[in-house]
Amino acid sequence: MATELLIRVHLDWSAPGHYQSQPLPCRVCGLPTTSRDSSDRACDKQCAEDEIARELYGHGQALITDERVATPAGPPADRGEAW
Ligand SMILES: [Zn+2]
Repeated sequence: MATELLIRVHLDWSAPGHYQSQPLPCRVCGLPTTSRDSSDRACDKQCAEDEIARELYGHGQALITDERVATPAGPPADRGEAW
């Protein structure tokens, strides 16, 4: 069975605090940007969205592949795990 996980993040950076006149290197890609994240660090909006999407994707993949589904080795209870 194939599983597909699609993640799309769209941040609302319409608040003026997300933009500064002084370009600084983006903390993700290193290119100059006037955008700032919620911690006031230089960051492109797209880079922040991609970063969050990657984190969510990794978490989602872990949930998909976790061991709540019984495997040929037996259900998790056989390994001493509580449900
Ligand atoms: Zn960037």
